[in-house]
Amino acid sequence: MGHHHHHSHGQHSDSTKNIGFAFILNLVFTIIEFIGGAMTNSVAILSDAIHDLGDTLAIGMGYFFEKYSNKEENTKYTYGYRRYSTLAAIVNVIVLTVGSILILFKTIPRLIEPQEVNSEGMVYMGILGVIVNGAAVFKLFGNKDSANQRVMMLHLMEDTLGWVAVLIGAIVMHFYDIPIIDPILSICIAVFILYNAIRNLFSILPIFLQAAPKTVNQEEIINELKEINHVTGAHDLHIWSLDGEFNVMSLHLTVDKNVDMKEASLIKQKVREIIDKDHIKHITIEIECDDEDCEMNHRQ
Ligand SMILES: [Zn+2]
Ligand SMILES: [Zn+2]
Repeated sequence: MGHHHHHSHGQHSDSTKNIGFAFILNLVFTIIEFIGGAMTNSVAILSDAIHDLGDTLAIGMGYFFEKYSNKEENTKYTYGYRRYSTLAAIVNVIVLTVGSILILFKTIPRLIEPQEVNSEGMVYMGILGVIVNGAAVFKLFGNKDSANQRVMMLHLMEDTLGWVAVLIGAIVMHFYDIPIIDPILSICIAVFILYNAIRNLFSILPIFLQAAPKTVNQEEIINELKEINHVTGAHDLHIWSLDGEFNVMSLHLTVDKNVDMKEASLIKQKVREIIDKDHIKHITIEIECDDEDCEMNHRQ
């Protein structure tokens, strides 16, 4: 069910209450799915249970880490706690990947030797799944103005469609003896989970590995910096992101010999204006004279 991909800042108590409600609903439904999957002997439902376990974890960790991420920095965590949300995303990817691989191991032998499932029980689970997920879609339908809500909406619609497929499969298996439908559905769901988990991993890894944010064009920044009065060059530019939203930057600027402190602070002000559009919230500028022997300069 509902995901919490991107975190919104400055939450109201109302949305906190909604997240709490979504978390409990997902948790209860996940437990029902694991029990229902075991009772009906359906790997398709177990597959979906893994997916909803991931959703539950994402909402729970999102809620927990959101509180942490907004805490002020201190002498131990000098950047604050923003990386916690990146950690949460990594944990979620691991749970979904391991879970769906386990399900595939359980499912693949059933393609060769399908097992009987309790199709009637599956029909009831399918109806419950469509109702619970469908209700969540309708609840969100009214307020899908933010990008975050659109992502959640799309996700919930996928979840509902998954349950519609399980329901149809269960009805078919109820009237015809085609037990292989269950492992086929299970594989489709597990592969879909894996695909999304790996896609998420590839969007988180660059943040983890301190890659420069894709949206930032370093060449353009350097060119703009060189336009500033008295600036003769820029080097040792580093840009990285704490959580995909909060970017950090450090750079060395070479300036004319006769620049005094007052002019230097004007230059720094201009630099901040230039990089403001790139979500760079923390910047360190080192100002050097043209002929200063900076060890970083030798590398260029
Ligand atoms: Zn979901
Ligand atoms: Zn330098």
